Amino acid sequence: MRVFKFGGASQKDASGIRHVANLLAAVPRPLVVVISAIGKTTNALEEVAHLAFRKADPTPPLLRIKAEHTAIVHDLFPHPQPTVQKLTAFFDQIDRNLHWPDEDMLYDQIVCVGELLASTILSDYLALQQLPVLWKDARQVICTDSRYREGRIRWDVTQERLAPWKGEAQDAILVTQGFIGANEQGHGTTLGREGSDFTAAIIASCLAADSVTIWKDVPGVMNADPRKIATAIVFDQLPYQEAAEMTYFGASVIHPKTIKPLANAGIPLYVKSFVDPGLPGTVIHDCKVRNLPPLIVFKENQCLISCKVTDYTFISEENLRLIFVALAEGDIKINVMQNSAISFSFCVDFRENRIMRLIDRLSESFEVYYNTGLTLITIKNYDEAIAQQYRQTKNILMEQASRSTLQLLVRPTPL
Ligand code: ADP
Ligand code: ASP
Ligand code: MG
Repeated sequence: MRVFKFGGASQKDASGIRHVANLLAAVPRPLVVVISAIGKTTNALEEVAHLAFRKADPTPPLLRIKAEHTAIVHDLFPHPQPTVQKLTAFFDQIDRNLHWPDEDMLYDQIVCVGELLASTILSDYLALQQLPVLWKDARQVICTDSRYREGRIRWDVTQERLAPWKGEAQDAILVTQGFIGANEQGHGTTLGREGSDFTAAIIASCLAADSVTIWKDVPGVMNADPRKIATAIVFDQLPYQEAAEMTYFGASVIHPKTIKPLANAGIPLYVKSFVDPGLPGTVIHDCKVRNLPPLIVFKENQCLISCKVTDYTFISEENLRLIFVALAEGDIKINVMQNSAISFSFCVDFRENRIMRLIDRLSESFEVYYNTGLTLITIKNYDEAIAQQYRQTKNILMEQASRSTLQLLVRPTPL
């Protein structure tokens, strides 16, 4: 069995969906297809949730999403009504869920609709092409805890619920949603932004699939984001460990949780171009690759927080304990850290509400300073030449080098 995953970019309009359908028509079964929301739908749904929670009018973004999806359906189907009706039922679901008093819960009930819409359109279009297809609701199989916006997988229940798919996929292409699941009460949950890659890995590992392929708008995994470094090169293969570290440092081409379940089960992950499927792409698997080139990752929207002791004593283990307990309880991950005699500094993703709560808490014990809008540049497998080049970067606030990895936290200069 193979598991394919298509992201928002590959199906941003009707021609993208036709292209995905053509690609699927040529693939032997058994096949499970995991779909993300169309284009930027998730961002728009986030806006709906944000407005609804603040009792503001969510109609403008909602109308935009409706218009976009309806236009695609009218473009794809000679008789659009049956598909339009299915989409309307999902939009009604949004209307029924605008009232939840918990912001994260409200968010998940609204935002999960993007994947439901996209998978319905693709599934109906495959059926129109006379392909055997079954639409599957991921909320009935991907079981999570109730941590809304970041559901943790209940692996045992998920595996049990997914088991029948093995047989069903013999006779039909199974089309399902990435990124979404449900808790044991049946309320929708999401797995964290960009989480559809992770869904593909969950399904593959639970069903012992032969491989996972994620189809992207790039020719494979590269040694840097080609949008940032035009000369980036494509890897033909990468060990699981190297790929996992890349995603940890912030390479957004693969969701960070994707690699672990695949590595544990020994399932290869192919990253291929949907623009040019003939290209070989990258395979991430159990292998050794010598002399990897420097691998550069830019992680934006970083916040540097410094906690300074106020009584002229030095930073102690007790001070560090306070800081780490606050981080662990706030579910906040440190991206890089450094200490001096009287202060401890660390860099985290700037998720505003969460970080401001952390800063308030730390301010009870320390003098706290912080900067936002920073970029963390990580160069793995660096050599002297590239280290020297990047050390010329203006406004370096923090630098750290291990034997293999150089990290520079910088304040980008305004254009
Ligand atoms: P999806 O369609 O699955 O949501 P994304 O847009 O999240 O895909 O991921 C693909 C993008 O990842 C590419 O367009 C590219 O700009 C970016 N990217 C970041 N780092 C890398 C890398 N190391 N190799 C390839 N692409 C990368
Ligand atoms: N649609 C979701 C997002 O934009 C999940 C994903 O694309 O993987 O975050
Ligand atoms: Mg994405």
